[in-house]
Amino acid sequence: MRKNEKGFRCSFCGRDKSEALILIAGVDGHICETCVEQAQEIIEEELYAGQEIADQDELNLNDSILPKDIKTHLDEYIIGQDEAKKFLSVAVYNHYKRLRQSKNDAVEIEKSNILFVGNTGTGKTLLAKTIAKFLNVPFAIVDATVFTEAGYVGEDVESILSRLLQVCDYKVKLAERGIIYIDELDKIARKGDNPSITRDVSGEGVQQALLKMLEGTDVNVPPQGGRKHPEQKLVKVNTENILFICGGAFDGIERIIANRMNTQVIGFNSDDKNQVDRENLIKYITHKDIKSFGLIPEIIGRLPVLTYLEPLDQVALRRILSEPKNSLIKQYQKLFELEGIELTFSKDAQEYIAEKALEYKLGARGLRSICEAIMMDAMYEMPSEKNVEKFEITKTYAVEKLGGSKLAKLKVA
Ligand code: ADP
Repeated sequence: MRKNEKGFRCSFCGRDKSEALILIAGVDGHICETCVEQAQEIIEEELYAGQEIADQDELNLNDSILPKDIKTHLDEYIIGQDEAKKFLSVAVYNHYKRLRQSKNDAVEIEKSNILFVGNTGTGKTLLAKTIAKFLNVPFAIVDATVFTEAGYVGEDVESILSRLLQVCDYKVKLAERGIIYIDELDKIARKGDNPSITRDVSGEGVQQALLKMLEGTDVNVPPQGGRKHPEQKLVKVNTENILFICGGAFDGIERIIANRMNTQVIGFNSDDKNQVDRENLIKYITHKDIKSFGLIPEIIGRLPVLTYLEPLDQVALRRILSEPKNSLIKQYQKLFELEGIELTFSKDAQEYIAEKALEYKLGARGLRSICEAIMMDAMYEMPSEKNVEKFEITKTYAVEKLGGSKLAKLKVA
């Protein structure tokens, strides 16, 4: 302890008590407020620099991973949807190329946030989830329907970022390079096509609130989300490098597309090479259709990559059942394997499940509920059966089990 005639001194800079605002005493010395501040800066610099390097290492995207490689990876988990996969691969590749761009570059690459349009259960969330896992970046899913304008019951738009912070243990630097999937974006569309008469609470106001976040800005985020903890300290998160992927079914958009195309293709005749695929109008979607649906142009401008997911037909559903790396069949087989039982699904049983899933109109989501209904009894009985080594799900078995389940009573619209 350094002590002069008048009193104590800072053990770091030597200032005496009369020169310092505060002198904090330790076991064997003192420290003044200026030295505390300097020490804090040193700590931040050291730890922060370390964190940056760690983040860089964790990001699984270097120059050698090309859009084609990203798509090949997506192919392992997602059946079909080639167009969406291609768009996503390019957008992600460009997005992370942008992150590596030098700050002094005269040409600034803009963010490539993405909008997926497609029916429920066609793989929108799965695509976003798979790409985040591949890149090893934090990923959060939020539902646009829970947002309201400030002051109304519901969650504020900032809570989107609370989720992301939570999944990466509040490491702000990591969160700032994550991916956020906003589901059901279509639900915040303005109702109707006339902006002057429809200033609805949930729609346009929320779109406005989302705008800045999509583009890139500092947002003060309540780390625990919601408004239930008004006392919580806000954390500043910059969204400039966060990739936003939005999705929605946009029910009825085909009609908008058809209207637009009818006015465009007057005089078009049936032997034209570029014949319009009227069964699948979604593939012709443009930003203009999204605007007619009721998203404000500013939001559309911040979602420059627009792509679609095709409705899943029976063939696709059957493939989804068995082909992806963690397909439902592979998952059930694993469960049974752990019991020492070899499980198989006959071809016609698979066809039957796909056919039923198509009827339920829930996309691939229906496959899961159907399989659960079929497999429930077997999963209940098998663990107690000691002598079973093989078990086959035949069509007859599937029909019987599904017929007796609650699902069979589900009325198909
Ligand atoms: P949504 O388009 O509504 O976001 P999801 O991505 O959540 O649909 O898909 C629902 C379920 O169906 C998920 O379990 C997913 O694994 C499966 N699924 C949907 N589409 C596909 C696909 N094209 N390939 C493989 N699995 C799919």
